[in-house]
Amino acid sequence: MAIVIVGAGLAGLRTAQEVRKLGYDGPVVLVGDETHLPYDRPPLSKDVIRGEREDTTFEPAEYFAEHRIELRLGSAAVSVDPGRRAVTLADGSALEYEDLVVATGLRPRRPSSLPELEGVHVLRSRDDAEALHRDASTASRAVVIGAGFIGCETASGLRHLGVEVTVVEPQATPLASVLGREVGALVGRLHTGEGVEVRTGVGLDTLRGTERVTHAVLDDGTQLEADLVVLGIGSTPATEWLAGSGIETGNGIHADVSGRTSDPHVWTVGDVAAWTVGDGRRRVEHWSNVGDQVRVMAPVLLGVEPGPSRPQVPYFWSDQYDLKIQALGAPSPEDTVRIVEDDGRKFLAYYVRDGILTAVVGAGKAGAVMKMRAGIGRPLE
Ligand SMILES: Cc1cc2nc3c(=O)[nH]c(=O)nc-3n(C[C@H](O)[C@H](O)[C@H](O)COP(=O)(O)OP(=O)(O)OC[C@H]3O[C@@H](n4cnc5c(N)ncnc54)[C@H](O)[C@@H]3O)c2cc1C
Repeated sequence: MAIVIVGAGLAGLRTAQEVRKLGYDGPVVLVGDETHLPYDRPPLSKDVIRGEREDTTFEPAEYFAEHRIELRLGSAAVSVDPGRRAVTLADGSALEYEDLVVATGLRPRRPSSLPELEGVHVLRSRDDAEALHRDASTASRAVVIGAGFIGCETASGLRHLGVEVTVVEPQATPLASVLGREVGALVGRLHTGEGVEVRTGVGLDTLRGTERVTHAVLDDGTQLEADLVVLGIGSTPATEWLAGSGIETGNGIHADVSGRTSDPHVWTVGDVAAWTVGDGRRRVEHWSNVGDQVRVMAPVLLGVEPGPSRPQVPYFWSDQYDLKIQALGAPSPEDTVRIVEDDGRKFLAYYVRDGILTAVVGAGKAGAVMKMRAGIGRPLE
């Protein structure tokens, strides 16, 4: 019987590749609700919205035939029956599995209270990015709601296209909940320096317009003119289709330290997965985490010896304007932050908790960030 993987994004693809690499010879089925071949998402909010790249496909169709990975694209999984070990797809067909891997990622939030207007975008998929690029090419004034990574990268891409941009963020600085306020302020400064108006401490109330959006109304009553609005207000785990299956979910799909869910034949990996870490659960929304998880999960799923393990230091990055912002380790807004380099634009920050270096974050400081890899988790001299 097959390994069925639901979700044909980075985590689904990497799982299929890893089980083949570990010598699994049985059927592998990769189910995806999008019609595109598996593609890479980070370039969507960078090169794709700038119009510098269209295709971010990982592997051509022949690759899947060659590796005997059966693709079921354009077909959403709608339910799973763990008792029968079968997944039902939207067309009514059922796929039986020996093991099921759920890698369904996230869906961008779009409050239902907002009116449906042209010119309003979210950004998660290739179709979203292409639609945003098309619209941005003729837009003149954009309001980006949310200064998380998607909002900040979108603001940067829109400035590149010559669009006037205002970013609206309820927290005190951009990226405050990920990198804390000190470093968030440096990121805010970067955007201000590029001509973006950054409005913090205020949220979106509603949008106005008849067919196309004309204004974003903020919760302090301010009306901002806009012919383009991007909602970068976070995403929710795509777990709705597991309802009634008995598989434990909360903020994501609950799993142990190797990705096994409350059902012994169901596994989860990637952005949707809330793996056990220490005493709690952690869901991570970064690219490198996917490969780290797959390398842990696949050998346990197959019951084979894992390869030599590398110490895993979490890593993520974000490209904004000409700067790469990189984070090595696990920065937390609760850590003490030491800004160790700052030239007014590029910066380097150490995150410290109880004297231990938890993370290093830099903008335009690749060498200095990577040099600290061995120091993460150790006392900072
Ligand atoms: C615009 C953007 C930019 C990013 N930039 C960065 C970056 O610079 N650095 C970084 O570290 N990380 C970045 N990330 C995060 C990174 O891309 C994700 O961590 C990664 O894509 C997670 O992979 P995944 O396979 O878990 O989820 P996804 O890539 O979202 O794949 C999940 C797939 O499952 C499909 N699916 C959902 N429900 C079903 C269903 N019921 N049936 C079938 N299919 C289903 C979805 O449509 C999707 O195709 C970015 C993400 C986005 C969206």
